[in-house]
Amino acid sequence: SSRFSRRIESLSPSMTIAVSTLARELKAQGKDILSFSAGEPDFDTPERIKEAAIDAIRQGHTKYTSVAGIPELLDAISEKFRRENRLEYAREHLLVSNGAKQSLFNLTQALIDEGDEVIIPAPYWVTYPELVSYAGGKPVIIDTDDRSGFKITPDQLEAAITPRTKMLILTSPSNPTGSVYDGKELEALGKVLEGTPVTVVSDEMYEKLVFDGTEFVATASISEDLYRRTVTVNGLSKSVAMTGWRMGYLATPDTELVKKMISLQSQSTSNINTITQYASIPPLLGEVDDEIETMRQAFEARMHEAVELFNAIDGISVLRPKGAFYLFVNIKDLGIDSMTFSQELLKKYGVAVVPGIGFGSEGYFRFSYAADIVTIREGVRRIEKFVKELR
Ligand code: PLP
Repeated sequence: SSRFSRRIESLSPSMTIAVSTLARELKAQGKDILSFSAGEPDFDTPERIKEAAIDAIRQGHTKYTSVAGIPELLDAISEKFRRENRLEYAREHLLVSNGAKQSLFNLTQALIDEGDEVIIPAPYWVTYPELVSYAGGKPVIIDTDDRSGFKITPDQLEAAITPRTKMLILTSPSNPTGSVYDGKELEALGKVLEGTPVTVVSDEMYEKLVFDGTEFVATASISEDLYRRTVTVNGLSKSVAMTGWRMGYLATPDTELVKKMISLQSQSTSNINTITQYASIPPLLGEVDDEIETMRQAFEARMHEAVELFNAIDGISVLRPKGAFYLFVNIKDLGIDSMTFSQELLKKYGVAVVPGIGFGSEGYFRFSYAADIVTIREGVRRIEKFVKELR
């Protein structure tokens, strides 16, 4: 038997981080590598946020705080929900953690027991099934593909629910597909859940990154029933280019649940970095909205061009995403599995993408366009060469 716990033995390392690390290593060896594997904006954190951090240090805000976050930050989050999503959350409904990743960790640990089922639409963000399994739960995957716009239907949801279903995880805008559920679709999914004890986890990390006039709708804003059963997870990593600051948060009207998660966090990491807390207030209050809009427009322009370039290549195709900063490219006609495709592409052409299988969907790869347009053009050119070779 292993000297490690069964729990940790069953955990897989993040595939996206693995590919990004390999690409970085090859680059460090002097190889000509173009990486489209990372899940982070290529923009710098806005100046206003950096200044708030420096001010916080100067003013001596360098000590422990309450576990859930300083009151000013919790109030800024409340204000954000009220202003942008028309949702009411008080301080006791909120918990700030080291990135949305820790929010999801706290949540799965607090709610899931051995054998509980958690419904996860595929393609999914790599972390969800791992966190569910780590908590002893069983991921129940609903498959979607490009023909359905990578969205689940109410019928699919209904068929997946059993007496053991504890949770449904929705991601809109989606990593890795960029799909976005509209209000009607969320309402229809919510109807299926009425009368069940299922908690909805709504991961809204890419809320600010929506394109071509797409309207973002918060799951909890759909109905009183969805407000009560939804835990909204969000953060500043993607929308404000703050990945390294580690600021994520969740909101739920279930104050007992928040208390349980605060206990877990108090015994593991305590409060998040105090300086980050102070620096997070300006973006939540809308003080860097101009910078956020500039980044969104840049992503949108790159997306338009990249989609055109990919769809001009014979043998592969991609749906035009409505949000986030990824393309989920269909390679089913090439007769090659996504892992081999990605490995060969990196070895022969120095282009790093993430195989679809890592997101639970074979026959695709994920291309992050969080890179400058010149690099994107060169990357797609190399992918085209490789695809021609395969056909
Ligand atoms: N949720 C989704 C859908 C993501 O893509 C990510 C990051 O890749 C996260 C949550 C977690 O982000 P963070 O822990 O930086 O807040």
